[in-house]
Amino acid sequence: MYYKDDGSIDYEDLGNELANMLHGYPYGEPQMTLGMIADELKAAPDSRQGRAMMVAAYASRWYAKWQITEVAVFDNLIEAASRAREVYGAAICSAPGGHEHPEISADDPEGAAEVMALIGDPEGRAAHDSLLDEEDVDLDAMNCPGFLAELAAETVEDLKEARRGRFEAPPTDASLDERYLTEDGRTNFDALLSDIERQKYSSIDPIAQKAAVWAGRRLMGGALPEERAPLALAVAYLTKHCYWGSAAPSVVAVYIDALKTFDLAALDQPCPHPNGHPVRLRDTPRRARALISPPGDADDHGERCPRGIATYVHEMIDYAVSYTSRHEQ
Ligand SMILES: [Zn+2]
Ligand SMILES: [Zn+2]
Repeated sequence: MYYKDDGSIDYEDLGNELANMLHGYPYGEPQMTLGMIADELKAAPDSRQGRAMMVAAYASRWYAKWQITEVAVFDNLIEAASRAREVYGAAICSAPGGHEHPEISADDPEGAAEVMALIGDPEGRAAHDSLLDEEDVDLDAMNCPGFLAELAAETVEDLKEARRGRFEAPPTDASLDERYLTEDGRTNFDALLSDIERQKYSSIDPIAQKAAVWAGRRLMGGALPEERAPLALAVAYLTKHCYWGSAAPSVVAVYIDALKTFDLAALDQPCPHPNGHPVRLRDTPRRARALISPPGDADDHGERCPRGIATYVHEMIDYAVSYTSRHEQ
């Protein structure tokens, strides 16, 4: 893919896929596409294809930030952009005021793909089918050393920052202990579950996420026996949102580690719910509340059933593992 029979880059093919990917609907495997872009950039940053790949890497950096769950893909891109930055150096614009550098915007995947193709193959199809007005096709501006040096510097900075946010262990916020622990050192579930319940839609609620990370760390150390099931449900609730919200893999790793400490022995115990257990996602915090309310309250739907909870936790471990390793098949 992306190469012609003579070994040169097929810019039409790559441009189409770059646009698909940046729109969020890749046709191929994004980690392969990004790997190819990084490898070509690294090999010869200042060659024609290297400059074209610089535009592709720059245009891809937000996609990588939100969608890529493998740190190796990130590191490869960072290495390539760093190499380009070194080669381009502190180059300045070759025609200050004399030309306008193209704008590579996240809102215009086709535009980015076209600039890439025009740099890489100025005689190729993109040149003939250009979406740009003829006077806007300024190859000198597209190949301007100052323009490319800026792209390289920004790509390195943005990717490094995104890597920290996505792959380094989320910080423990000490002030949360004050919020989520009672004076005698128990979990304050009212406070914790109120924050967990803030997670409602597909994008991740940062407060709910912090609460889930706190619950996960509590589960891995310090949780009292009776706290384990409601803490696990709090973690499981945010775990279920990882795909929809593109959660950082480092955060999901905490969820996985935490849920794996949960005793799943109840999976093998019989229970009186042959038709299954209530697993409606939005009920999860309520289910956790049921566990901490005094026994004797209604348990009409088997909400407290240890086997039901173990089943759900087990499912969420698999779900999270498939998220963080979804490309490693
Ligand atoms: Zn310039
Ligand atoms: Zn049951």
